[in-house]
Amino acid sequence: MVHVWIDTHCHLDAPEWGQLHGVVSAERERAHDAGVGLCVLPSVNVAGFEAVRALAHEAGDAYALGIHPLFVPQADEADLDALDAALLAHRDDPCLVAVGEIGLDFFVPELCTPAMRERQWRFYRAQLALAQRHGLPVILHVRRSADWLLKGLRQCPVMGGIAHAFNGSDVQAQAFVDRGFKLGFGGAMTFDAARRLRHLAQTLPLSAMVLETDAPDIPPQWLYVTAAERAAGRAQGINGPSQLTRIGAVLAELRGLAVADVQRQTTVNALEALPRLQGLLATVG
Ligand SMILES: [Zn+2]
Repeated sequence: MVHVWIDTHCHLDAPEWGQLHGVVSAERERAHDAGVGLCVLPSVNVAGFEAVRALAHEAGDAYALGIHPLFVPQADEADLDALDAALLAHRDDPCLVAVGEIGLDFFVPELCTPAMRERQWRFYRAQLALAQRHGLPVILHVRRSADWLLKGLRQCPVMGGIAHAFNGSDVQAQAFVDRGFKLGFGGAMTFDAARRLRHLAQTLPLSAMVLETDAPDIPPQWLYVTAAERAAGRAQGINGPSQLTRIGAVLAELRGLAVADVQRQTTVNALEALPRLQGLLATVG
């Protein structure tokens, strides 16, 4: 039952996939052939709720509902009510596994003004409260914001979840683990130059880690095309969930483990972080 890979974070509804519906389903098919049994599709705004739900149902995948910090500037209070209503309406949907993607982004300059930090904090807190009320784990966007995210979790504890694209300190990693979280690792870890992140990937307990592609963002090293190469006409390869197994192989190499062991353990970890995946996995077989 746990012999498949799980991509715990991919945005298959992102506009980068283009309007052609076939591109996404072809990529999902490739991922399936590569052994990726399940994908988790987080939403980024209310307008995208139906798209992630439909895509997840089409492929037997999982989805999460939430308002992403990068979309907080355009969101309003009514969106929080819409999220509450959607979580209630789909509470018995086995494909709904978490509240996400929510969190705080203290990297993007426009989001770092005092007013915008305050607004992000308010949306984050409100969404934690919704996760608590609906008994769901959360998928967190962490960017220069780990300590603030942890502060929110202390004030409003949830059942756990995933700190996605984690790139913090050992102490922050442990604090998330202590709160029932797993840490998401993906394409960023595949770059030779990502020394600190690779060190983290080598030293954290494997039991704390889950894998993700964050598709179509964060391409792995083998798909990355430099600005100079792009100028010379080479297209950026599209990062999709089919890349997950190769990302898993990089983690296995970094840790000196067999790929099969990394696959098995990260899948078990994903099921711990997002318990509702259990029911979906049973149907994947
Ligand atoms: Zn994301």
